[in-house]
Amino acid sequence: MLDTPLVLAPEIARRRTFAIISHPDAGKTTLTEKFLLYGGAIQMAGQVRAKGEARRTRSDFMQMEKDRGISVSASAMSFDFATGEDSYRFNLVDTPGHSDFSEDTYRTLTAVDAAVMVIDGAKGVESQTQKLFEVCRLRDLPILTFCNKMDRESRDTFEIIDEIQENLAIDVTPASWPIGRGRDFIGCYDILRDELQLMDRADRNTVASAVKIKGLDDPKLAELVPADLLETFLEEIEMARELMPPLNAQALLEGTMTPIWFGSAINSFGVQELMDGIATYGPEPQPQRADPRAISPDEKKVAGFVFKVQANMDPKHRDRVAFVRLASGHFKRGMKLTHVRSKKPMAISNPVLFLASDRELAEEAWAGDIIGIPNHGQLRIGDTLTEGEALRVAGIPSFAPELLQTCRAGDPMKAKHLEKALMQFAEEGAAKVFKPTFGSGFIVGVVGALQFEVLASRIEMEYGLPVRFEASQFTSARWVQGQKPAVDAFVAANKQHIATDNDGDTVFLTRLQWDIDRVGRDYPDVSLTGTKEMM
Ligand code: GDP
Repeated sequence: MLDTPLVLAPEIARRRTFAIISHPDAGKTTLTEKFLLYGGAIQMAGQVRAKGEARRTRSDFMQMEKDRGISVSASAMSFDFATGEDSYRFNLVDTPGHSDFSEDTYRTLTAVDAAVMVIDGAKGVESQTQKLFEVCRLRDLPILTFCNKMDRESRDTFEIIDEIQENLAIDVTPASWPIGRGRDFIGCYDILRDELQLMDRADRNTVASAVKIKGLDDPKLAELVPADLLETFLEEIEMARELMPPLNAQALLEGTMTPIWFGSAINSFGVQELMDGIATYGPEPQPQRADPRAISPDEKKVAGFVFKVQANMDPKHRDRVAFVRLASGHFKRGMKLTHVRSKKPMAISNPVLFLASDRELAEEAWAGDIIGIPNHGQLRIGDTLTEGEALRVAGIPSFAPELLQTCRAGDPMKAKHLEKALMQFAEEGAAKVFKPTFGSGFIVGVVGALQFEVLASRIEMEYGLPVRFEASQFTSARWVQGQKPAVDAFVAANKQHIATDNDGDTVFLTRLQWDIDRVGRDYPDVSLTGTKEMM
């Protein structure tokens, strides 16, 4: 049967592709576990962590990652979620949780249609949340907020909402309202559905029981909520309704309003309501910006783009997995797609779907889904795959690194090996590698200092190659752009500052902002840029 847009539509409409943004310790892992629990992907909460750890030791995660409890690599998880009559397919893309902001994080967010922001009810908006939020804002991503750990002493509800509004400049609308605080927290009033949800503190895996209430005057409220808590709650909710706007689905989709749910992930409380919210208000897969035209999810032909590459997921095979977000069409295993950059056909014979329980072969997928394509390095970040049309997905940037160091092999005879290792990490997007026109060796650029250590230990582990990172004479890198004659003249006159990056593009290295300003004055036809689009 032909897949006309009519056949695609329901598959698109039921997909939700999102990421969780949060500050470490706010409860992202716990919430993910509960998502999977309700998604039926696992039997018991706690398994994700155990499974995650087993997978980590099996794959390329290094000791350091374990020691520091950071996750350097992101992954994707798919699971189904049923609510009422409807069944949704959720694709959760994990954002790296460490505090060194990296391009990886940014690119992860190019692959999702929405983000769930988790904050700790006692701590409010923390630094990492703020940073990640700014990235979401660049793309006007819809944000749904979960205020976690309400079972513990938390801040005043109005204060939390105010802080989000002030710090993040976004309208907040309560989707639920907590009743009681800290030890007295008994549950939430679901504002969207006029239900009372009471938390079961005795059993952390029980889903809260919901009591249908006919508005706030329903006598059932007084039966179920202790009088003192009820009084405060009724006062608060009246004030909230006066002060805060009701949920506006359009404003949510445009990223100017976030609904907030209150809950306790560890007690499985409020999670299902959040998931319902994602299903009901979270956007379905959105059109993808591309050149020369945007890609609509309901197009018949398959298109997708690589937003992440992970090497050595299994050290036994030197494979790489390219994470592809499908932008359109109905993908089937075995399909031949065109790799637009090289114009070569690629048979996608063993794509992987990241079902929460394990990696599984993907027989079929639709817009919004994330599939993994094992390959030997042909697929790079930013690459587009289509059924033939020369479309290139736009908006996946590469940032100039903020830190540069020279990298040398412990054994000078191993320079070639080092080059290979560095190129691999460059392709993964873990670092930029510059080869200076003059002199030997490589200059490696990263965004956060921790990444040098990560690289050194990965090169040693995966290539058996001890390396040293040393201070470089340069501190900044800028891409050189302009018409060929102007660029050639610039390069010829500044050879000692020129290098090529891992894609072969020309780069100007310097240690002085003054130098960069000078180029602006002396070479008006050349521009030095801090970002380039990966194409
Ligand atoms: P992540 O760093 O954001 O992934 O946070 P985790 O999910 O690992 O949670 C951090 C800590 O907070 C862990 O010790 C969790 O058990 C705890 N935690 C998570 N959710 C809750 C909650 O709802 N209430 C309480 N009291 N603790 C929680």
